[in-house]
Amino acid sequence: MVLLAVILAALGSFLLLRLRADLVAEVDKALDTQAAGILADPDGGLEAMPGVSVAGLRRGETVAQLLSPTGEVRDRAGTAAPARPLVAPVMLRQVLAGQQVRAEVRAGPDGARYRVLGLRRAGRGAPTVLVVAAPLADVDRSVERLRLLLLVAGPIALVLAGGGGWLLARAALRPVGRMTEQAEAIGADRLHDRVSVPDAADELTRLARTLNGMLDRIEHGVVEQRRFVADASHELRTPLAVMRAELEVALRADDPAADASEVLDSTAEEVARMSKIVDDLLTLAHRDENSLELLLAPVDLGEIAAEVAGQLLPLAEEGGVQLVVEAPSVPVVADQARVTQVVTNLVDNAVKYTGAGGSVRVRVWEEASGGALAVTDTGPGIGPEDLPKVFDRFFRLDAARTRARGGSGLGLAICRELVEAHGGRIWAESVPGAGSTFTLTLPAQPPAAIHQPPP
Ligand code: ADP
Repeated sequence: MVLLAVILAALGSFLLLRLRADLVAEVDKALDTQAAGILADPDGGLEAMPGVSVAGLRRGETVAQLLSPTGEVRDRAGTAAPARPLVAPVMLRQVLAGQQVRAEVRAGPDGARYRVLGLRRAGRGAPTVLVVAAPLADVDRSVERLRLLLLVAGPIALVLAGGGGWLLARAALRPVGRMTEQAEAIGADRLHDRVSVPDAADELTRLARTLNGMLDRIEHGVVEQRRFVADASHELRTPLAVMRAELEVALRADDPAADASEVLDSTAEEVARMSKIVDDLLTLAHRDENSLELLLAPVDLGEIAAEVAGQLLPLAEEGGVQLVVEAPSVPVVADQARVTQVVTNLVDNAVKYTGAGGSVRVRVWEEASGGALAVTDTGPGIGPEDLPKVFDRFFRLDAARTRARGGSGLGLAICRELVEAHGGRIWAESVPGAGSTFTLTLPAQPPAAIHQPPP
């Protein structure tokens, strides 16, 4: 509104000045005509003033004076024409020097304002000065009227524009207020709530959609996190319950020492299982926090595959599974322990889930961008609906069966995090009933960003 007031004031001032200048120009034009009429007769008196007799000049009309070079009034016309010269001595000198002089002066008994034109009049004798003057009362009245009009209309326009603008802004911002209230009400306990999307195709609609999209992602993340915590607690509770039951039974026995070795064996097994789960959870937590540290060094993917196969050969033989390895030397830069962990997990799964008489094949090859490794088995395979989920945390196809085999459902999730931490990719393909293939690729050199410790 301040800006609008300044603009209106500037516009009003300009209008007033312009109107006054135009009206004064009109007066000047009339003065020019009258002066020309008088000058047409170089020796005549002021009676020659066209359309105006000396006696007929009334108060408030054009007046005229003829001045001697020294400034005495020789002749005058018009009732308001004063006995003293209408022009100051400076102007007189300028006129005598040949200049046409225009000015505004006050004259007459009531000091009214006049527009004056001074001209040199060369007659037979010494040159005289002709001064014609017209009152500016009409001009001043017109300007004053416009000024009053602007003084009344300006504030009204200002109030109307300000009020209209305020109402408009309020109406336009009402949805923002509503969205703000709704967004403020959304907390961890009301994550399914959304802000209402205004019914228009504008920025606010986009903002509301963006907010809702963000809430979708946050809700998804929180739900995942809650499920993860619930799953983790559940996983840890099972071995703890087993241990507790066994310890209680042993302690209640008449001779606890007799069964001690068996109970300790079983307890150690459960502790080992829990340690593995806690290690896995820690690895995932580090990865989630972006603080998983990789000890990068040149390693041979083929060597790792051969070593893992060698370690798991007894397990495969025990389960009647044939284990085949094709592992040429493929150098990559990676964290040896982490890659070994991934390959062990894949081969271990393949051996675990392939029944007796089946086979597992581990293959390593070089690629343009680094190395690749695939573990193919002739096991039961994975259905297409489960295939995208096998890398999810705590996902197990058949929970009871796999837990009995020691699986917690974190193995493949960790594999994916570790491979991705190296800048690689891992995926699964399967034909249900015929077997599965888990493939991973590792870049020859992990991207630079991976070397930097997180901020
Ligand atoms: P787990 O510790 O239970 O083995 P993983 O994350 O390693 O957990 O695997 C998740 C699930 O994917 C397993 O429970 C199993 O049902 C399925 N799975 C993994 N590897 C294979 C495979 N080679 N053949 C068939 N199913 C598999």
